[in-house]
Amino acid sequence: MAIAAESQAGEKPSSEVSAASDKQRRWNLSDFDIGKPLGRGKFGHVYLAREKKSNHIVALKVLFKTQLKQSQVEHQLRREVEIQSHLRHPNILRLYGYFYDQTRVYLILEYAAKGELYKELQKCKFFSEKRAATYISSLARALIYCHAKHVIHRDIKPENLLIGAQGELKIADFGWSVHTFNRRRTMCGTLDYLPPEMVESVEHDASVDIWSLGVLCYEFLYGVPPFEAKEHSDTYRRIIKVDLKFPSKPIVSSSAKDLISQMLVKESSQRLPLHKLLEHPWIVQNADPSGIYRG
Ligand code: ATP
Ligand code: MG
Repeated sequence: MAIAAESQAGEKPSSEVSAASDKQRRWNLSDFDIGKPLGRGKFGHVYLAREKKSNHIVALKVLFKTQLKQSQVEHQLRREVEIQSHLRHPNILRLYGYFYDQTRVYLILEYAAKGELYKELQKCKFFSEKRAATYISSLARALIYCHAKHVIHRDIKPENLLIGAQGELKIADFGWSVHTFNRRRTMCGTLDYLPPEMVESVEHDASVDIWSLGVLCYEFLYGVPPFEAKEHSDTYRRIIKVDLKFPSKPIVSSSAKDLISQMLVKESSQRLPLHKLLEHPWIVQNADPSGIYRG
């Protein structure tokens, strides 16, 4: 399987990894020393690895082509690689490049030394307001960056967030993301003939990430997502109604609840825009501007 993404064209070679920045470069497995397994996903395994030439530590994700084909996710993977390899933000996991052999596809990823946020949340049950606000503001900045590039993540949740060596959050897993501009261009050829409601739909689509960030903020503070229910159909109903309730325990400030209520709004155009979120008193008073939670 050939992945269509030829990333980093026209860019200066980065000092961090001689990585995919070198256009001529074709990676293969012998460029890496493989270390301990970091985890296991649906389609393969992730290993700690070191690029021999630069000594740079990376995470190497190994995916089996047969499994990708069986589950018909080759398209999704191609899109993920194409989108993620072009994003450069401290709170977005870098994808340096990829290569493949007969049976496997390898993704060269930034190594997130402190692992999964999901596990941290399980361990702590819920986060302090300072920690939650620091995470939410760094994610809002990363999403503002994505949206400006017409990329919508569409799958923001604890399982898709990793923690870097400094304690900073990294958005990973762009498997469900879309590049709206691309989609439109292929759909309509040119933007010029699109009516206002379709031009506007870029903003509307991006607001799905605001909703998810609101759900995440709730989950950080209460330890459970807001519309949880025993049955799928009940969760569905609660979402449709925006059946938002704030339990009395753990105690959460009214300022945090105010912010969540402004994000979890049914009418997507009425959700608090991300740049306004950054100015919300709860964020201003609680978030560490460095985006790093220092315990
Ligand atoms: P899927 O994305 O297929 O639904 P997943 O997210 O569980 O599954 P992967 O993304 O393949 O699986 O990753 C498996 C595990 O490896 C993760 O849960 C995480 O613990 C670890 N891991 C993945 N990428 C990195 C990374 N860049 N740095 C550190 N650990 C990682
Ligand atoms: Mg994943």
